[in-house]
Amino acid sequence: MQIEYAERIRTLPPYLFAAIDQMKKEALLKGADLIDLSIGDPDIPTPSHIVEAMKKAVEKPEHHRYPSYEGMLSFRKAVSDWYKRRFNVELDPEGEVLSLIGSKEGIGHIPLAFVDPGDIVLVPSPGYPVYPVGTKFAGGIPYFMPLKEENDFLPDLDSIPEDVCKKAKLMFINYPNNPTSAVADKKFYEKVIEFAKKYNIIVCHDAAYSEVYYEEKPISFMQIDGAKEVGMEFHSLSKTYNMTGWRIGFAVGNKEVLSGLGKVKTNLDSGVFQAIQEASIVALETDDKILKEIRDIYKERRDVLYEGLRDAGFEVKKPMATFYLWVKVPKETNSIDFVAKLLKEAEVLCTPGVGFGEYGEGYIRFALTQSKERIKEAVERIRRLKL
Ligand SMILES: *Cc1c(COP(=O)(O)O)cnc(C)c1O
Repeated sequence: MQIEYAERIRTLPPYLFAAIDQMKKEALLKGADLIDLSIGDPDIPTPSHIVEAMKKAVEKPEHHRYPSYEGMLSFRKAVSDWYKRRFNVELDPEGEVLSLIGSKEGIGHIPLAFVDPGDIVLVPSPGYPVYPVGTKFAGGIPYFMPLKEENDFLPDLDSIPEDVCKKAKLMFINYPNNPTSAVADKKFYEKVIEFAKKYNIIVCHDAAYSEVYYEEKPISFMQIDGAKEVGMEFHSLSKTYNMTGWRIGFAVGNKEVLSGLGKVKTNLDSGVFQAIQEASIVALETDDKILKEIRDIYKERRDVLYEGLRDAGFEVKKPMATFYLWVKVPKETNSIDFVAKLLKEAEVLCTPGVGFGEYGEGYIRFALTQSKERIKEAVERIRRLKL
């Protein structure tokens, strides 16, 4: 029998990292002392009070059955309490909060609720690859909004052609931003809301990194007047509490939008394991002292890598949030070749910007997901290179 893939699988963008994965494997086989700064996954374990809460929760037989689709009300209440404390935003836990199996799940599924074949979705480039892929799975067409340094890595909404705006159903934005580490201000969000109202576009703001900050606390899209009218916000416990493996996130905001996403989900999944939800309630109540310790670890690493790369002659901005550094590659090189060179000559691995979309070309991304000592070592090795 001949197995034929559907077009939506066949037309997935080529896996740009395949060649790099291969090089990484070869380097490791040769016994390279590789410093892998390519992974957006915290190396620090989940705080122990959350793990302890999970141990207790997993023993309760009532959690062994199917969970409710929209999430336990106690979890949704904990989310709404957290929003109130952190952002001074009021959310109705009954209709304005929805649990997700990680925010990636919600991001991937939301186009199925609002995008018909041929509809346009506005997607940042560079950006999280799930935005365009989820769009295409729903039959939609991504329109890439370039994030350029001269615009502080915010999309220039005025430059989107009128006919594109009219055909757009959904728009993804993400601040603090992966991969550029840019943050957005109130003025930008106000502009987004005005734009969304004018063209009837649902705004999906991905706030996965709202708690990974250094100097100033990032704001929430939901804090802006009118945000709830035009859209919603995706959130995740993954980056905030080092819980990437647990698979839990949530969506908040516009009731009708969440209800659309909920309809897709009730037909595809059966919710989040209740024991995880119960442990996540404890996570959301975490003392800020513990979170500050985590932020301080990243901050030290950030300073080492930022100063190291700057002194080595790289063009790089100091990130105010996220655990990424978005670094210009030296002129006349493309991002894949430069990543290959760093891997071969310094045994340091980072991510080529083009992996996040066409407008990521010319940059590489470093993740602060290794110890300060290893990052220092990486900097030493990069300094020794002839660039
Ligand atoms: C890590 C990440 C997410 C979410 O991850 P989940 O673990 O699925 O909650 C979402 N958006 C961006 C931009 C990310 O980097």
